[in-house]
Amino acid sequence: MAAMAMVSEHTCITFHRRNSESNYVLFRPGKGCASNVGFFKGKQSVYVAPPCKVGNIAHEILHTLGFEHEHTRLDRDGFIEIIKSNIIKGNENNFQKIGGRTFDIPYDYTSILHYGRTFFTSNGKPTIIPKKNVKDMGQRRRLTETDIQKIIHVYNCGTCNDV
Ligand SMILES: [Zn+2]
Repeated sequence: MAAMAMVSEHTCITFHRRNSESNYVLFRPGKGCASNVGFFKGKQSVYVAPPCKVGNIAHEILHTLGFEHEHTRLDRDGFIEIIKSNIIKGNENNFQKIGGRTFDIPYDYTSILHYGRTFFTSNGKPTIIPKKNVKDMGQRRRLTETDIQKIIHVYNCGTCNDV
């Protein structure tokens, strides 16, 4: 509920309990936090597990809303370097570039959809090195201004008070 509130607070996205909708999101226990990206017909699962904090679940909700990881943007090479040799084998695809619209919104190291320095590291060394001195890369405490802007662009909305 807190994760949904985190998303609703600054956007027009709202959530309600399922009535008889045939397309819906089901939050269910999983091995970790996970979600597909974008709309899937019927029952669409968001997996949550004890290690998932509120911000992790908000991250998954943004995937469900259609947003890819920030560090997979096509223009990411200007901002970060991926160190493939440090990534746990089999997880390289989490770092692949994915085409998608960016709405001319600047690259955001602190997006709730950006990985941190050592995510999926096999050896404790960085998997992502930022090309400038940034702090808070990989944070999961809040939606940033650009996270909010992306939602507003795609869903054509402002805060609940604006619509
Ligand atoms: Zn993710």
